[in-house]
Amino acid sequence: MNAEIIAVGSELLLGQIANTNAKFISSQLSELGINVYFHTVVGDNANRLQNAIKIAEERADLIIFSGGLGPTKDDLTKETIAKHLGVPLAFDHEALTYIEEFFARYGRPMTENNKKQALVLEGCKVLKNHHGMAPGMLLDKDNRTYILLPGPPKELEPMFQFEAKPLLAKKVSDGGMIVSHVLRFYGIGEAELEVQVQDILDNQTNPTVAPLASDGEVTLRITAKAQSEEEAWKLINAKKAEIQAIVGQYQYGVDDDSLTSKTVEMLLHNKLTIAAAESLTAGLFQSELAEIPGVSGTLVGGFVTYTEQAKVNQLGIEQALLEQHGIVSSECAASMAANARKIMGTDIGIGLTGAAGPDSHDGQPAGTIWIGFAIGDDEPVTHKLQLSGMRNTNRLRAVKFACSYLMRLLEEKGYKRV
Ligand code: ATP
Repeated sequence: MNAEIIAVGSELLLGQIANTNAKFISSQLSELGINVYFHTVVGDNANRLQNAIKIAEERADLIIFSGGLGPTKDDLTKETIAKHLGVPLAFDHEALTYIEEFFARYGRPMTENNKKQALVLEGCKVLKNHHGMAPGMLLDKDNRTYILLPGPPKELEPMFQFEAKPLLAKKVSDGGMIVSHVLRFYGIGEAELEVQVQDILDNQTNPTVAPLASDGEVTLRITAKAQSEEEAWKLINAKKAEIQAIVGQYQYGVDDDSLTSKTVEMLLHNKLTIAAAESLTAGLFQSELAEIPGVSGTLVGGFVTYTEQAKVNQLGIEQALLEQHGIVSSECAASMAANARKIMGTDIGIGLTGAAGPDSHDGQPAGTIWIGFAIGDDEPVTHKLQLSGMRNTNRLRAVKFACSYLMRLLEEKGYKRV
């Protein structure tokens, strides 16, 4: 199945918003093994939209529309498709009741044009909108499938995921199942990972294996088609074992895991407490950890010590040490980690200091980062990063690295990963 996504909306062409719906739909389709060959963007204009549909019909058998399902005059996606396909529009009574009840509940007058949102293409499968009023549609006609989705991402994303995607999965799997599983890696670049698993990437059929990189992490998505879920998992697990035999040492998790969630899980599992002293990350390490439910069982607290004075006053770091080695140094990171641990009375202390960029700091080039780890009464260890990203990318990478390296250090000391 080959797909084209047509995003409708003049604001996209005017550069007022980015076409994130196309990005979202594409990534979802790739999980189903559906190829997307074209993204089209067209303004709120019926003639140009009809031309775009004609072109898409020449080269795709699945056409997905985003936007233009609202109540106003410039929302003309379904009217244009209806005219183009010669399919009448009819009221979907469930959607109409939902809209009427919505206005009644909030005591707002319902204008006539709001009813228009409950009009759907006759014979379509209605896709429920749990976050807005306009329902979506899936229509099979002349060996093509047309899917119409509302523009707002908070409506489109759940509608696609929970209403449209299962129907598409059924279509592409000939009554079987499609299951996909993501392996997450850290500490290896995308290019290197691809080289290492090149044979697997070159010889993939079922399951397929697709690499993706973002924010210093790399993922491999394994997607299997089979007659049952059990069979699909058998195929996935066999491929996973092949991959792990080659690059398993870099894998930190699967599916929705994150470096922070795995770190918190490991700390909780081993009943370890942690405190952080942060300079360049200014609380980001603690904030990222705090996104994980249950973190209060391990994160005791910490310090944001941005200036030299704050490091001396709050953490008790010796002025002489800072004068001799500088703020961006192994000695400073080690001392921050050790003192945070001591003051907070935790098992582990972490210290993050560095030059986030774009300018050099304390005589160190932008992207130089030192992270200190104080675990128990052991001598603190430090690690230097030399990053080349933008300021905030560097700060986030420092946090991710701290998590990944901490898990490795703890494992070396005999603590169990989860
Ligand atoms: P509404 O009922 O809100 O009018 P609609 O289905 O008619 O929904 P549009 O009017 O085209 O959709 O877009 C509504 C809003 O959705 C836009 O202002 C924009 O914020 C967002 N949106 C539309 N298209 C996209 C897109 N391709 N990517 C990201 N956001 C989008």
